[in-house]
Amino acid sequence: MSEEYQEPKESEDIKETETDKQEDDDYEKVCFICRRPENRAGRLIRMPGNMDVCSDCMQKAFNSLQSGNLLGNYQEILKNYPNMGMDLINLNELGMNSPEVPKRQKLKKKKAKEEAEAPKFERSQIPAPHQMKAQLDEFVVGQEQAKKSISVAVYNHYKRVLADPSDGIEIEKSNLLLLGPTGSGKTYLVKTLARLLNVPLAIADATSLTEAGYIGDDIESVITKLLAAADNDVERAERGIVYIDEIDKIAKKKNTTTRDVSGESVQQELLKMLEGADVEVPVGSNSKNAMVPMTTVNTANILFICGGAFPDLEDIVKQRLNEKAGIGFGAELKDTFEKDKNILAKTTTEDLRRFGMIPEFLGRLPVIVALESLTEELLLRILKEPRNAIIRQYQKLLAMDEVRLEFEEEALKVIARRAMEKETGARALRSIIEEYMMDIMYEIPKDDNIGTVTITKDFLEHTGGPRIAMRGMEPA
Ligand code: ADP
Repeated sequence: MSEEYQEPKESEDIKETETDKQEDDDYEKVCFICRRPENRAGRLIRMPGNMDVCSDCMQKAFNSLQSGNLLGNYQEILKNYPNMGMDLINLNELGMNSPEVPKRQKLKKKKAKEEAEAPKFERSQIPAPHQMKAQLDEFVVGQEQAKKSISVAVYNHYKRVLADPSDGIEIEKSNLLLLGPTGSGKTYLVKTLARLLNVPLAIADATSLTEAGYIGDDIESVITKLLAAADNDVERAERGIVYIDEIDKIAKKKNTTTRDVSGESVQQELLKMLEGADVEVPVGSNSKNAMVPMTTVNTANILFICGGAFPDLEDIVKQRLNEKAGIGFGAELKDTFEKDKNILAKTTTEDLRRFGMIPEFLGRLPVIVALESLTEELLLRILKEPRNAIIRQYQKLLAMDEVRLEFEEEALKVIARRAMEKETGARALRSIIEEYMMDIMYEIPKDDNIGTVTITKDFLEHTGGPRIAMRGMEPA
């Protein structure tokens, strides 16, 4: 009886290991020592304990053994295996059951068929600037000039990626610098763009980046994020977008005697990536350690967009314009500069240099785009117009309870005015609306008879409640 019972279980086990193997075949093997994947390190040799080792590392191991210093001279070993960390020397970990690399840390192998079928990155995938702008218009309100400049720069960038370099004419990269106050939509614009173009996007904060070797994320971590956003597909990552926010925070510090860990030196390191460099990154992990496979991502075709609020830049621009206008004749002009809310649009590289950005860095960000600070009128439009406007999102939520949600125009104006007072741009809109909608979302589902809820100005000003209409009695 018991034998009969065990037999099918055994065959199931066998089946399982076969599927495991099959799944494993979809992933590249990685050299246990140097962590390069098979496509870069060449055919790997399977060692006892399921370790795969490339022929280079094997050769180096033999050389070390021959010179008799494998255990005697640790320095020498490290020289031979630059990617090898201290923890690899833990012999317990080197036991017969070597740790398997988790799948998310492996590079997906592309099958020949898949490769042939995979849609090639083509010009037709990149909309012309006017089409790109029209698509952005559906989501981003206002910022006309910024949307136009970005569409042109991005179009040119991808033309450059696809250009044939054989005629010797190399198109220069058009990385972008976005200037604009908090909440003016810098991040939102970049996110929308990446989604429209269907390219991977990584967002990093310049304040968290430090020079390699210091506490904080090193600059290469941005590329690790991008690779993760591209599902560990190196080719896709190499034509992605990296957005570095708060770039103004890494301006050169004035009159500093201490080592400038997060300012100028970070600009210097970023510069290398902006220019185009091979960056060695761990796959599927944030840290480089001996157990994580490594791969190389070339940044030459990655579009870098940097953004920041540059708080004192306005004064620098005004000062320059005033100097130019001169004393006496320019008095009138001076006044206009003082009142001009969008003075940032007149920013030049020279102003940014004065702000503390190094010239080489600025040289790599040739397209400077200024976003307008949002007015009450624009905030009102942001509430209503975008495809995924906040009020549409709430309407959709309530529609699921078969309740119609309306907003009085005057109520929306109150929300826009309050957001304006908070001085955090469009970011404030959601928190203000949320405050009032919480009660509505709590109360409405209690009563099945409610057909329409109208958010009134009185409700927002605490002088009345929302207008409720019962089902079948709604206004037409
Ligand atoms: P920034 O990066 O400039 O500080 P964000 O891009 O984070 O600002 O903007 C915050 C939010 O405000 C976005 O998520 C978006 O919903 C909204 N927003 C900002 N500007 C616009 C705009 N021009 N059109 C539509 N929504 C906007």
